[in-house]
Amino acid sequence: MFRRKGGADGAPAEDAAPSAHDAPDTSVATVGVDDAAVAVGQAVERTRRTWFGRIGGMFRKGLNDELWDELEETLISADTGVKTTLRVIGDLKERVKDEGIRDPEAALAVLKDDLTSVLEVDTGRGRIWYANGQQETLPKPAVILVVGVNGTGKTTSIGKLAHAYRAQGKKVLLAAADTFRAAAIDQLKHWGEGAGVDVVAHQQGADPSAVVFDALQAAEKRDADIVIIDTAGRLHTKANLMAELEKVNRIIQRKIPDAPHEVLLVIDATTGQNAMTQAKYFTEAVGVTGIILAKLDGTAKGGVVFSVCDQLRLPVLFVGTGEKPQDLARFEPREFVEALLAP
Ligand code: GDP
Ligand code: MG
Repeated sequence: MFRRKGGADGAPAEDAAPSAHDAPDTSVATVGVDDAAVAVGQAVERTRRTWFGRIGGMFRKGLNDELWDELEETLISADTGVKTTLRVIGDLKERVKDEGIRDPEAALAVLKDDLTSVLEVDTGRGRIWYANGQQETLPKPAVILVVGVNGTGKTTSIGKLAHAYRAQGKKVLLAAADTFRAAAIDQLKHWGEGAGVDVVAHQQGADPSAVVFDALQAAEKRDADIVIIDTAGRLHTKANLMAELEKVNRIIQRKIPDAPHEVLLVIDATTGQNAMTQAKYFTEAVGVTGIILAKLDGTAKGGVVFSVCDQLRLPVLFVGTGEKPQDLARFEPREFVEALLAP
């Protein structure tokens, strides 16, 4: 296990040393877990300061129509999405009425519960990480396919995952299946070097499926634990791109029938609601199992997390909190909501 001694999560110190008695080690679920609360807190700081941090104060002025209006405006302004916002407030109002809640703090607690439950999406898909933070034993090799529009943060997030796994003593292999641009291949190689992991790459313009096939062969030969596949976010047309991803998916399945074990869609938190349309295409083409929400640190509209989970019915598994290798945090719904609504 890879928690540091006396970690912020209060992990027992013996977790710091691997032993034969350790529970099955699955631990990218624990990526950054020690510092996750701090990192997420920092990453949502702009959103908290600009929007959510005011909510507690609004409640204290009384539970009335003015509050509901103000709350609605705040959530929508923070990019929570109209549908999600109305649903959450509708539920809150109903409970306040039905349960005769008078205490603003009690009503605020209901809001936090509602917001948390929006984020607790369990699709039953994905074999490596569950939305609730539970984990299964890693299949070997665990195959993670990473998809998303150009510039959202795929390659960077893969680099961060590689660092995290590598730090855990795992043998990681990266596949440079974004062959559309030479720079994309170099960028992945650069992250691979930094993390000390192998990168399987072909020339620019090569068939991405061939890269993936080679990577899976190499993983077998080199006894790799984890294969992470980078893909293109742009081709000549969207139909081309989706067809290509479907083909990559088929090649993986032909080689390892129960893979890919996770299909992670990277969404750029700073593009807010645009992300929703993009996400639908990828979900249809390759069956996304979870979201990495990159660049959460770069936005004041972090409310987008709620609409992503609510509208896509997909769990956010990780959030990007910066550009450095360690800037990836495991996403915990309750902790996220608490950080966001801190006064
Ligand atoms: P890709 O095209 O999807 O592979 O996207 P890249 O990984 O190349 O990332 C695009 C840009 O976003 C790069 O400049 C990254 O440094 C930046 N980026 C990625 N993730 C994060 C993040 O979590 N926070 C910040 N601030 N920048 C990020
Ligand atoms: Mg890339």
